[in-house]
Amino acid sequence: MTTSSILLTNIHDILTGRADNGGRAAGPDIRVADGRIQAIGHLAPLPGERVLDATDCVVYPAWVNTHHHLFQSLLKGDPSGLNLSLTDWLAATPYRYRARFDEKLFRLAARIGLVELALSGCGTVADHHYLYYPGMPYDSSAILFEEADALGLRFVLCRGGATQTRQLEAELPSALRPESLADYQEDVARLARQYHDAGPAAMRRIVMAPTTPLYSVQPAELRELAAFGRSLGLRLHSHLSETVEYQQAARGKFNCSPVEFVGEHDWLGPDVWYAHLVKLDAHEIALLGQTGTGIAHCPQSNGRLGSGIAPVRQLEAAGVTVSIGVDGAASNEAADMISETHAAWLMQRARGGQDALPGYAGGTQEGGADAASIEDVVRWGTTGGARVLGLDGLQGITVGACADIAVYSLDDPRYFGLHDPAIGPVASGGRPHLKWLLVDGRIVVEDDRLPGVDIRQLGREAREAVRSLLAAA
Ligand SMILES: [Zn+2]
Repeated sequence: MTTSSILLTNIHDILTGRADNGGRAAGPDIRVADGRIQAIGHLAPLPGERVLDATDCVVYPAWVNTHHHLFQSLLKGDPSGLNLSLTDWLAATPYRYRARFDEKLFRLAARIGLVELALSGCGTVADHHYLYYPGMPYDSSAILFEEADALGLRFVLCRGGATQTRQLEAELPSALRPESLADYQEDVARLARQYHDAGPAAMRRIVMAPTTPLYSVQPAELRELAAFGRSLGLRLHSHLSETVEYQQAARGKFNCSPVEFVGEHDWLGPDVWYAHLVKLDAHEIALLGQTGTGIAHCPQSNGRLGSGIAPVRQLEAAGVTVSIGVDGAASNEAADMISETHAAWLMQRARGGQDALPGYAGGTQEGGADAASIEDVVRWGTTGGARVLGLDGLQGITVGACADIAVYSLDDPRYFGLHDPAIGPVASGGRPHLKWLLVDGRIVVEDDRLPGVDIRQLGREAREAVRSLLAAA
């Protein structure tokens, strides 16, 4: 054992993020060394070992966020899009503002989003980034990796992009011109060479991720991009079936359902995951399950945009791997994993209750309280996320797993009186005090603080940036 090991002692409760042992481990101590969990049980400190006293703390695996648009972190609550559904909102907020991001604003937005996530206990961030155009004066991909690196987070860049514009962008500046297919592929290949680590404990990954399969590229190109991504050993990601508009478009353009469409173009499988999947018929759920495709469930964004509630429980029963994504902050004013998992827990239950019918109308249940346990939600938000990203070293809290660990101290009155403190971080909502966040065995957050990050200063810069965005409007 190296002397650089860390011992977490006297933990009150451990949720493992795993399906075995009811999703719990007894502890009360966890030893971490060489980036891995070395032991769990009653452990005595080793000479020279750093001991972290976790008395009265609750331990979860660090969260894995599988869908985001970090540049939107300066577009929260934009009044022009606040009460609009998806398509109108896209035009009103993210598309309208995205050409105004220079390097400085973009870097600031990325930092805000990553800091917000880290302080919720998130250790891995997959960003579906689509701010690219020909002749772009800065390398937005490099900035995302730099910012995640500076904080010590795992980062998966889902390289978005489009070879054709939507009507939404028709009247917008030339900075939103689409890329050619060749340029798009060339940049994905460059990013893969520069950043992609295929290893199970990778800190950096690249994913092939055209912004939306129905609009961003021609159908033949969609198939070509799947083959190209796979030839580089990359996973595939996009948006799908977020609203009825997807159903309408697939039926109108291709006379099929959205899931049938992507299936016909090689975009289903265990190496593919989609954000949203709210509007699905039974055949689509079966197809997604049979192919082992994954979902990034984004309940807060789906709620904020009035899109609906994804049938997560039915998807999981069909064989879909479930993960949680916060989606961009332009449609989610709380883009952190605690708020998101709190919403997932409540909304799956609400959906179950919404579906309930009285017995005389054929109903068999009163409500949906069995739709999602806290352990389910923690599993979706941690090892489920690792599975869709292919980060096989992230196996939750178990011996041998990557040491990505969140330690919460439940010292706010909202948690006082809990019979089972383990459920507090997800069930009670609000942001618990993050005593430590470990990523790859290294402490990246201590007592709600990230080394090198001045939160007050970040707040001042954010307010200034919003003023400059509005002034340019
Ligand atoms: Zn999205």
